[in-house]
Amino acid sequence: MSGSRVVVVGAGVGGLAVAARLAAGGHEVVVHERAEVVGGKLGRYERDGFVFDTGPSLLTLPQVFADLELGLNPVALDPVVRHVFADGTVLDSASDPAVFRERIAAAMGAGAAADWDRLWRRARRIWTASWRSVLRRPVSPASLAALSWRLADLRAVAPGRSLRALGYRHLRDPRLRMLLDRYATYAGADPRRAPAALAAIPYAELAFGGWYLPGGLHTLADALLARCRALGVTVVPSSPVTAIRTVHGRVSGVDLADGGVAPADIVVANADALSVYRDLLPDPGRLAGLADRSLAGFVLLLGVRGRTPALAHHTVFFPSYYDAEFDAVFGDPGAGRPARPASNPAVFVTRANDPATHPDGDEAWFVLVNAPPHGTGWAAVDWRRPGLAQAYAEHVLMVLARRGLDVRDRLRFMQVRTPADLAAATGTPGGAIYGTAGSLLRPRNRGPVEGLYLVGGSAHPGGGLPMVALSARIVADLVGPDPT
Ligand SMILES: Cc1cc2nc3c(=O)[nH]c(=O)nc-3n(C[C@H](O)[C@H](O)[C@H](O)COP(=O)(O)OP(=O)(O)OC[C@H]3O[C@@H](n4cnc5c(N)ncnc54)[C@H](O)[C@@H]3O)c2cc1C
Repeated sequence: MSGSRVVVVGAGVGGLAVAARLAAGGHEVVVHERAEVVGGKLGRYERDGFVFDTGPSLLTLPQVFADLELGLNPVALDPVVRHVFADGTVLDSASDPAVFRERIAAAMGAGAAADWDRLWRRARRIWTASWRSVLRRPVSPASLAALSWRLADLRAVAPGRSLRALGYRHLRDPRLRMLLDRYATYAGADPRRAPAALAAIPYAELAFGGWYLPGGLHTLADALLARCRALGVTVVPSSPVTAIRTVHGRVSGVDLADGGVAPADIVVANADALSVYRDLLPDPGRLAGLADRSLAGFVLLLGVRGRTPALAHHTVFFPSYYDAEFDAVFGDPGAGRPARPASNPAVFVTRANDPATHPDGDEAWFVLVNAPPHGTGWAAVDWRRPGLAQAYAEHVLMVLARRGLDVRDRLRFMQVRTPADLAAATGTPGGAIYGTAGSLLRPRNRGPVEGLYLVGGSAHPGGGLPMVALSARIVADLVGPDPT
């Protein structure tokens, strides 16, 4: 089905990317964004000459953005990530498998390097199957039959295993298993429950590289906005959509918070799938399988005096016992343990060597730890509880100090962003970064009423910038060009 008037709900990466594609296909496209700025989770914060990315800091698979003609100049990172383990071992990952192998051998011994090689071959098969069957195609009843054999194909390379089990099967060194486990959290999931198919994530990151955009990753949102405007898309900020209108099972437009109505033949929702089904559609609650909300992130933005040679662009500081973090942030109702902030989490620090992002001689740090989403109930934490955010921020700095990097006497300022703040800024329920956690089958791109489509990280094929860009491509293909 195609039509000429398209309304896109939300100007995140998914919304802007699909708007550009549909406008290029001849549709008349208007994007309504509830916030004052575009970009959604791909946010920016500026203060006293420091410029921070508040969301994504690592760009993978930049090639999926290539045909949008954004004029990006991504810079390859080496190391992609520096891993600092509790015993003091430092391992720098590399996008050249031979180099990474040498680094593993030097840090952990030849046996560990050979183990990684075996895992790597398995991960490549998983990646190839996912790319072919899942990542570039819609999931729909019509495609399910075809998909089922392809999922069987996936099972052949990772038969019913968790990512954790895959690690145990291939990797004898517990530090390498920790490194692998961490990729489950890239999909918002617990490695003990996430499918082994998520080994496709480290494969994509290391085989195709980790990238930075000069000026910060948020410049991707600027580039998408400029591209949309050049293609004639109208982008309306500060314009929340309050409902999606339907007539006889077909979309007819959207209601706006200012009381207006925007008529549409096609509505593409970039808002989180949960709010689309629960809040925007007239008949809520039709979306099954949203119970496993992904984890959220607790973020510190630090203006730091002086330079820190020990840091790479991305550095992760691991705890000695990683499972305590998963027990904390996911909670366990069976054991009567509600979710809580982890007391000894892995700490991820991003510090770009980019003069555009900090005053001379200083550094802008983005510090991220995994955290339960905001809310009530056993799987969430009330991040608005007075004093909690500040106390946990100080705790995270103390954890970092215990791991050998004490930044506390070098702070010019600290900005704290809790999952509650992300929820307020982007409308994402609970501030859950990736919508539904770690599943291959997410909410479909075709919505439950004719003419409604879902794009973005909470829908198929999933979260993260490249997946979101792929979802925009899938939706644009489903809609097709305007025939008029
Ligand atoms: C802390 C953090 C770190 C991350 N790190 C990485 C990383 O290193 N690499 C990576 O690839 N990914 C990373 N991600 C994930 C990545 O940011 C997201 O997957 C991606 O940006 C999601 O884009 P989206 O378009 O799906 O949704 P969003 O960015 O959530 O955009 C949705 C937009 O819709 C708007 N909206 C919602 N409801 C309405 C409404 N009713 N009316 C109008 N507008 C509405 C919102 O305001 C928002 O602008 C990170 C995310 C976070 C939060």
